[in-house]
Amino acid sequence: MKLHEYQAKRIFARYGVPIPAGEVANTAAQAREIAQRLGKPAVIKSQVLVGGRGKAGGIKVAKTPDEAETLADQILGMEIKGLKVKRVLVDEAADIQDEIYLGMIVDRERRRVAMMASSEGGVDIEEVAATHPDAIKTIYIDPFLGIKPYQAIAVASALGIPPDQTRAFTKIATGLYRAFIESDADLAEINPLAVTGGGQLLAVDGKMVLDDNALFRHPDLEEMRDLAEEAPAETEARINGLSYVKLDGEIGCMVNGAGLAMATMDIVKHFGGSPANFLDIGGGAKSDKVAAALRIILSDPNVKAVLFNIFGGITRCDEVARGILVALEEVKPAVPMVARLVGTNEAEGRAILAEAQMITATTLADAAQKAVAAAKAR
Ligand code: GDP
Ligand code: MN
Repeated sequence: MKLHEYQAKRIFARYGVPIPAGEVANTAAQAREIAQRLGKPAVIKSQVLVGGRGKAGGIKVAKTPDEAETLADQILGMEIKGLKVKRVLVDEAADIQDEIYLGMIVDRERRRVAMMASSEGGVDIEEVAATHPDAIKTIYIDPFLGIKPYQAIAVASALGIPPDQTRAFTKIATGLYRAFIESDADLAEINPLAVTGGGQLLAVDGKMVLDDNALFRHPDLEEMRDLAEEAPAETEARINGLSYVKLDGEIGCMVNGAGLAMATMDIVKHFGGSPANFLDIGGGAKSDKVAAALRIILSDPNVKAVLFNIFGGITRCDEVARGILVALEEVKPAVPMVARLVGTNEAEGRAILAEAQMITATTLADAAQKAVAAAKAR
């Protein structure tokens, strides 16, 4: 789950990271009031869950409350990379002298949090990584020891941060690491970490991506979810307890079990098709869950065929088949459907589905080939 800039920065601030004073506005009039209260030039910042807002014209500096209102009016309702701007953050404008990049991600191979920093802040870090990777300093943090001051000092010195700002940088790096760990984040980023004309370090932008699987431990963070910015299919999957990842292919896959779902995707590829999604409906899924999964799959206009791959263990195949029938009543699919059912009561299950005009199969290879052929024929 991605957080908005204003949410990420407020979390960072709780861990001692300095951020500009500011408030969120839903209307241009509110933006004006906030600018008035700040009593200084303000920066009007679109709050949408994508980067590169500055380049897209979604970030503007206003010298007066009047100008804040005019600019907020322009930015609210703007579309940035397909997302409509519904809120703006009105921050006290910073006098930016230099822009530093500071970010943390999980490095799965090293099983460590990687702290990355660069003196080439402000721009996309991917761009820096591609054009001059030497400008990025990376250190790996031991999960048992946590971040150590000497590590932050080494990064500060690699970035050419002057000694009188090293203490402030260390405090920010330590705070960001603690915010990352205590929020169960996948990513925490300050870009830019501004060096102001007065020699202060200030987190001007903030980005945070939280681990969805850990959100149950953070009801306060879960509440920050912006449903309006989530794809409808993802919302439906989450509400129904389905693990769903959208992909770009044309064969919708409905499978019970994560490993089986991976195997299904592999075999679809093997026979020349391409999966439209990863979807694990889990064990013991009832018809309402099957229906939700089918709705999600069919809401993708790329889907040309659906492949059900169900292993009947605790749940019997005939029960799953009846669940599929109930789902089909509710969601009338216009694409061919192939079902492979194996396990307890598989023959009964297949008979039920054959009656419903579904293409049935016994082996996974057979099912995948039939699904690929059905999709190609359309
Ligand atoms: P992003 O484009 O979505 O990453 O949004 P940022 O918040 O990083 O803003 C983009 C750029 O706008 C920054 O790199 C700065 O150069 C500029 N900017 C943002 N806030 C301020 C500010 O308070 N003062 C000044 N002078 N520039 C700002
Ligand atoms: Mn930025």
